[in-house]
This record gives sequence, C-alpha cells and structure tokens, in this order.
Amino acid sequence: MAHHSAPATIIAPTSRPHDGFQTSRVYDELGMQRDPNNVYLQSIDAVLTAAEMLNLPHYLQLILAQPQNETMVHFPVKMDDGNYALFKGYRVQHNNALGPYKGGLRYHEHVSLDDVKALALLMTMKCALVRVPYGGGKGGVKCDPYKMSRDELMRVTRRFAFAIAHMIGPDTDIPAPDVGTNAQTMAWFSDTYATISKSVPDAMAVVTGKPVEVGGSLGREKATGQGVVDVLAEVLPELKLDFAKCTASVLGYGNVGSWAARLAAQRGCKIIAVMDHTGALRNDAGFDTEALAEHVAKHGGVAGFEKAAGKTKGVGGTPISTKEFYATKVDIFIPAALEQMVNEESAGWMDCKVVAEGANAPTTPAGERLLLKRGIEILPAILCNAGGVTVSYFEWVQNKTKSAWDIEKVDEELNRHMVMAARRTRLARQKYECDMRTAAYIAALENIGKAYQLRGIFP
Ligand code: NAD
Repeated sequence: MAHHSAPATIIAPTSRPHDGFQTSRVYDELGMQRDPNNVYLQSIDAVLTAAEMLNLPHYLQLILAQPQNETMVHFPVKMDDGNYALFKGYRVQHNNALGPYKGGLRYHEHVSLDDVKALALLMTMKCALVRVPYGGGKGGVKCDPYKMSRDELMRVTRRFAFAIAHMIGPDTDIPAPDVGTNAQTMAWFSDTYATISKSVPDAMAVVTGKPVEVGGSLGREKATGQGVVDVLAEVLPELKLDFAKCTASVLGYGNVGSWAARLAAQRGCKIIAVMDHTGALRNDAGFDTEALAEHVAKHGGVAGFEKAAGKTKGVGGTPISTKEFYATKVDIFIPAALEQMVNEESAGWMDCKVVAEGANAPTTPAGERLLLKRGIEILPAILCNAGGVTVSYFEWVQNKTKSAWDIEKVDEELNRHMVMAARRTRLARQKYECDMRTAAYIAALENIGKAYQLRGIFP
C-alpha cells in the first residue's frame, strides 16, 4: 500500500522569488533572445535566478550564461547500401573552472545546438554540486541510431571521434554515453582516439562509460539509476515517506529508468506504471522490474510486456494511454526519458508527491510552477542524476592510477557523493528559502564562484 501521509514542512516546496521568465539583465547585455520554449534559455534562466539569490558577481553570471566553446562538424560516412551520408556532430564546452570539460555524447534525430548547450550547462552545475573535479560539456550526432546497422554506428562513431579529436583529451574534455550511445560506442570512440593520438598518455581515458574489459568501471552502467535511488533514500524520510512502502511511475525504461526501477524495487518500492516510446503499461501489484528490463533488451521497448501476464502471474502489465500513465496515483514519479516531457499539460495530470528527475531538464518551467503550486516536491536533475558522472569520475581515476576498484568501493563512494550532494542542496534550501532546483544551483554556484575568486580572470 502506498503511504499517503501529509508532506513534512522541513523541505516543503517554496517557489522561486519570481515567476517571470528571463528577467535578468544578462540577456540584454549578451543580446540573447527571450524564448520561454527554448530549453537552453530555460536552463540558464533557472541558473541565473539562483546566481542572483547567491549574489554571484555579475561578471560570473555573464561568463556562465554562454558556453566557452561551441563546435559543429560535418562528416561523411559510407552506409551499408554503398551510398555516402553526411552527418552533423556537436561538442559544446561550457565551463572548465573546476576541471576538464565532462559530458555525454547523444545520438538522436532531434539533437540541436541549443539542446547540447543546455545539457553542457547542466553538466557544469552537476559536477560542481557533486564535487567531482570537472567542468561541463556535451556533444552528439544528429542521427537515428535505431535505424542504423551496427557497422554504420561504428563508422559514424569513428568519424565523429576523428572530427573532434583535436579538442578533447583525457585531461581536457572527456565524453561519456548518453541517450542513443552506450559502452560499445565508447569502446569504438576511445579506440579511434587512442589510435590517432599515440603521444597522449592514458589515451583510452578520453571517454568514460567504457566496457569493463577496456578500462570501464564496475558499477558505471547502473550508476545513474543508483544515484536517483540514493537521493530518494536520503530525502524521502523528511517527506514522511517510507521507501519500502512507496509506489512509483517510471517514464523511460532505458539505462537510467530501468536501473532506477530495479534498484527502487529492491528496496521494496512498487513500480506500478511505466512508459517509453513504444507504449505505457500499468500493474498495481508492481512490475517484475528485472523481467521488464530483459523484455526491453530483447524487444526494444516496454510494449508487448503485457503478453507475459497470461504466462507468469503478476509479471506483465495492462496497456494504458499516455494520459493514464501520467495520471496514475503514485508517491514517486521518475522522468527518465527525454527533455521537456513534464510540461504544463502532463504536470496537470500528475498525481504524485515527489518527482525525482532522472532525465536532464525533463520539466518545463510552466510544468515546474504547476507542480510546486500543487505542493509536489521536485528533486532536480543535477542532484538526482549525478550518479552517472560520479562513477565516470571513478572510472577516470582508476584509468589514471592504473587501478581497479571493486564494486563495493564504487557503490560506497557513489552513495557518499550522492548523500553529501543532497545534504548540500537541503542546506542551501533552508538558508535561501527556495525550491530544491534553485537550492541545487546555489550549492553548485558557490563552488564555481569560489574557484573563480581564487583563480581570477586571465590576464
Ligand atoms: P536511453 O537511450 O537508455 O533511454 C531513453 C529512454 O527514453 C528509452 O526508454 C526510450 O524509450 C525513452 N523515450 C524516448 N522517447 C520517448 C518518448 N517520446 N516517450 C516516452 N519515452 C521515450 O537513455 P538514458 O541514458 O537512460 O538517458 C535518459 C535521460 O537521462 C536523458 O535525459 C539523459 O541525458 C539522462 N542522463 C543519462 C545518464 C546516463 O548515465 N545514461 C546520466 C545522466 C543523465
């Protein structure tokens, strides 16, 4: 049974000081458009709101409002049918005040420069919040990986690695997997980089999220989902929710969603609704999250898992509509698919107590305002999904020190980083009396602000 007690007051939601969009003078000074539907501007607006509350010097707000480098490349790849296709790739390096740029590579048909800029900015904030010595970057290739063969994906990856090799490196910019890429992609990418960068020591450390056999870390694959669960375990008691008695909905059943679901289920939480690009399902008794992960690996999505219901009692689910998925009454809603899926409309349908953002920027500002107004707690992406970059950092440390950690050490260190980041966010929230997203940005900006104060600005 779900536990539906009143939310505690200690971290009850409080709104941002203003609901207006883009009121900062930084926009005028930098000649930036005011477009409330642009995901980059949404992200920077939330960061600038936090910066104002923290009294971060104006020159730092200007610096953070734009990435340091934005690169676009075009490269040809021979497809299986013998024809050549031209691909567009991106690498955005947002900020490196705290260390090398760090952030994933996304393969998706809708990848755009502004998306990559937003994700790079979020990486800067995430690394600063969780205190790993990295800055923020992000990249991607505009393509549909589901429509390409394995060989085509390999050739695209190798050409992309070649096209951006001059601007990345194990001590300058370290990519990782994201939507549409995985450990295999990282193996091809690092092999290409190492082949053409013979003088670079530790060249395979140019990316993280590699397979364990070629320098990956134990625990990296599940790390982001595990971080979501670690943060929930830390925060739920203050909301007077018992994880073992909670129900949850999971949007997206890929790397982040499926691991968050499996690890939450291991703590007794019942996953009663799931949705991905193939469909939505409900099972009030709680899904067998392992069996569902196996189904997704085999069939490419959750659709069809209902068929198992006849064979194995309580395993499969009943197909439901998108609206029914969002409206399912649960304690915890975990968006772990793409950006902007919790918008004004879907937020209006949602019936939950906590949103744990597994995906990056899954909630639009309008959706967020509505959820906060309705007393729903939002645990922001830069806190909730920081587990991935944290274990990426552990992988990089292992590569650099030629060592291999056991899984217990990875899990323990990850938990320590996630719990400390949650506590840092809570402290900022209490001090500045703001919502959790603003608090997480404040805690991150404090760290970046101190680094700039100490380093100064060249010359
Ligand atoms: P993934 O490709 O493994 O999974 C993406 C999921 O989204 C799939 O289940 C897919 O079906 C679903 N999806 C796509 N379009 C959808 C739609 N229109 N409706 C419903 N579902 C849809 O990707 P991932 O690595 O799990 O990443 C998910 C999110 O988490 C992204 O925002 C990513 O940036 C973020 N993230 C990932 C990591 C990581 O370590 N993989 C780390 C931090 C943040």
